[in-house]
Parts: sequence; structure tokens; C-alpha cells
Amino acid sequence: DVRVRFAPSPTGALHIGGVRTALYNYLLARQNNGTMILRIEDTDQTRFVPGAEEYILKSLAWVGIKIDEGMGVGGPHAPYRQSERKPMYMEHALRLIQEGNAYYAFDTEQELEAMRERLKAGGVDLPQYNSITRTQMRNSLTLSEDEVKALLQANTPYVIRLKVPRKEEVRLNDMIRGWVMVHSSQIDDKVLMKSDGMPTYHLANVVDDYLMKISHVIRGEEWLPSAPLHVLLYKYLGWEKEMPQFAHLPLLLKPTGDGKLSKRDADQMGFPIFPLDWVDPNTNEKASGFRESGYLPDALVNFLAFLGWNPGTTQELFSMDELIKEFSVERIGKAGAKFDIQKAKWFNQQYLRAKPDEALTEYLLASLAKENIACTKEKALKIVSIMKERVTFPKDFWEQGKFLFQAPATFDESVAAKKWNDEAVKVLTAYKEEVTKLAQFDAAIAKATLEQVAASLGVGTGKILQALRLSITGAGGGPDLMMIMEIIGKEEVVKRIGFALE
Ligand code: GLU
Repeated sequence: DVRVRFAPSPTGALHIGGVRTALYNYLLARQNNGTMILRIEDTDQTRFVPGAEEYILKSLAWVGIKIDEGMGVGGPHAPYRQSERKPMYMEHALRLIQEGNAYYAFDTEQELEAMRERLKAGGVDLPQYNSITRTQMRNSLTLSEDEVKALLQANTPYVIRLKVPRKEEVRLNDMIRGWVMVHSSQIDDKVLMKSDGMPTYHLANVVDDYLMKISHVIRGEEWLPSAPLHVLLYKYLGWEKEMPQFAHLPLLLKPTGDGKLSKRDADQMGFPIFPLDWVDPNTNEKASGFRESGYLPDALVNFLAFLGWNPGTTQELFSMDELIKEFSVERIGKAGAKFDIQKAKWFNQQYLRAKPDEALTEYLLASLAKENIACTKEKALKIVSIMKERVTFPKDFWEQGKFLFQAPATFDESVAAKKWNDEAVKVLTAYKEEVTKLAQFDAAIAKATLEQVAASLGVGTGKILQALRLSITGAGGGPDLMMIMEIIGKEEVVKRIGFALE
């Protein structure tokens, strides 16, 4: 049975990298008729941020990742919020102590600091609490049984630490990275239970993955250094056979490729980093989301799927269903994936374009309603048909098509300098006269009339087309000019040319 979990910590808005992790888990689950579980890892009370949990649920729902079991859904292993599972962690920590694989440590912050200072003075760069240093500290390995009992009875604050062996090769076979080996001397005696009675991430994560019968752990590369420790925990808890398969996903890199993608990079380069808008409850700072920036969920999913995975073919457009069919962990790369926002825009364009015109007019009409501009359905459809190849976001229909509703107030000077000349003025003056006389007006008539007028004056249409466009739209480029004229109508065409000629 494939049982995977997405296990975010509610420490703020869900980063887009987290959405990718959730997506890959989801694809594996769906592909195997497995179960997608959502577990909230909120054991670090100091980092808890109100609203983050709801944000996670909303974000996953928006991108189309359905949770089968866990937070917000329920299931046989409830509760799915780690802060509500405290007794289970303690039970396992105590078993580790009883079996000689963990111990109580009573050291105060000052004592720990003194140890670190001592080690640093002795030339140790990274002081650790480990098989060597623990012999000098106050813990249940150095104190007598009676002393420990007395300390516990007096409610002396303590933590429970894992007793990491001095010399042991710890190995794990990662589905993406292959064999990963770490010598136990590199691992310190990690805290499993904190003095506040909460487990640390490591213990809670392993205990829950076991209890929830997780088959595959797919998570970001930043957790790879913790994996050997987790392997030790599985071993000491007697769960080696049930240990899930690990797959550590490649890092998301800055668009330039140098270094990890951060929120600051995203802010600086002006793109969203969260799925939805987020207001930090502590600072009131607002960060923009993909949804509000106009990305379509299926486009975002397609983009995220390619950040680390590839299908091995040239096909780029994949619906969620196609991804479910084609996805494979074997085709996930080890190398970091560049977060190329241009590619995200490209996907959005493709998905936007592929929508039926009827659906696209909804976007335009919504923008127009906000601006209090009236527009018939018929006109909206025409606008959509000439604009749809040019837009990236739904809001572009309005933002790039304002000239279809409002006469240009200014004219692009650089185009005017090149294209606005005596010839253009002569043709446009005559064209305006001719258009005024027309009983009927549409794109074809507008074009034929222009050709006639230009020919009669001995000027090629190509030479004055830009000037005409400038007078109608104010700019040098845009969708089909004849269609633009049809859409704005004869009166408006005459008015705009007249204004430009003034
Ligand atoms: N709570 C961890 C996180 O926030 C989960 C890591 C894991 O999947 O093991 O990313």
C-alpha cells in the first residue's frame, strides 16, 4: 500500500517549494491508488503562526491536491496534529531510555554553553553533545540511578537525548540519491523530547510515520542530513522493516542558479513565492501569491511538476491526470532545479489560451465590472478573440486592451517620430473622410477602404499603417488593427483619427 504524507509545519505561509513536495507525494499516491495524508507538524511552539494551518489547507485545495486522510479530513490515525499526540511520543522516548538507546539530560543552558566554550577553546569548530562529551555532562549515563530519580522527583527540567553510538556506519538507500552513508561520529546526541514536554521534529516525525504506516517519505533535500538520524531511530525502535522509502527532492534554486531560492529573491525579482496572498499576522506584512497574481492552478501544477522531474520526452503540457499517469520518482533529478518564473508565465499563457473564449470573456467582464465599464457579451467575445494569443494573465485582457474602451490620451513618441509624417497625415485625413461616409463598418470594410484611399493617393498601405495604429491605440504594436477598429466602431475611429490629426 502506498501511503504518503505531506507534513508541513505551520510556521508561516506555505512556500511554493512545499507545494511541490505536496504535489509529488500526491502524484505518487494517486498513481498507485494510495493514500495522501496531511499531518501538521506543530511541535515547535515558539514558531507557531496563527492562520498558517488554514492557509495550508486552502492552498492545497486551490492547486487541486486532494487529501485522503489527515488534517481537515480525519482518519484512522487521528489526531493528525502533532501537538495533540504528545503522550505517544513520550511513550516511545521512555522505551528508548529503558532499552538503553536514549537518556535523560539535566544540563542547564549555562552548563551547555560552558561545554561549548571549553570545546571551542580546545580547537573544536562544531562542539557537539555526543558519545565523547556526554561523559562530562549531567545525564542519566553519568549520574547514579538514585540521583536521576531524585532529580526527576524534584521536577528538574530535563530533555531526552538519543544515545548515538560512537563508531557506526549509518546508511540509507534514497530513491533519488542512491546510497547515502554517514558515520555516526558526525551525528550528535539529538534531543528527542524537549524540556517543555514536546517532542522534537525528529522523534515526532519518525514515530508518526511508523504509526501512520507511511510507505514513502518524499521531502525536500534540506531534510537529507536528518535522515541518518531517523534511520537510527527506526533501528532502536525496532521498526527497521517498516522503515519507509526515502526520496529527497532537489533544491529549488534562484532563477540565476546560484543558491537556494528565498522569499527575498522572489520579492526582489517581483514574483510570488506563495500559492496564495499571505498577510503575516506578526508584522502585517503582505506577500503576494500565485493565485492573486493571475496564475491558473493547472498551469502552476504543470510548472511545479517540472521543477525536478521530467517525462523523458519533449511533451511539456500535462494535466493533473496526465501527470498522475506519467510521474515517476526514478525520473526526479538530483541537481537543483532553477526556479524560472518566465517558464511559469509561459505555462500560464498556454493554459489561458487553451480555455474556451466563453470562459475567457468572464475574466474580461470581471475586470470591466470593477472599472464600472459597460460591455456587451458580443464585444467581449471579439476582444477575447483578438487578445487571447497575447495575454499571460486574465487581467491582461483589460490592462492590455484599455484602448478598446478608452481613447489614447498620449501617443508613443518613438513611433510618432518615425511614422508620423506628411504622407501619413495626407492618407489619414482622406481615410477619415471616407470612413465618415460609410453606411456599414467592420474589419473587412475598414481594410478595403484604407487600401482604396492609399492607392488613390499613390501611397502603399504598409507605409501608413503604423500611423493609423498610433492614432487608434496610442502605441506601435498590438492585436489586429482592423479588428480593433471594428470593435470600437466607426464613430470612435473617426473621432480618434481626428484627435490625432489635430
Ligand atoms: N515538518 C517538516 C517540514 O516542515 C516535515 C519534513 C518531512 O517531511 O519529514 O518540512
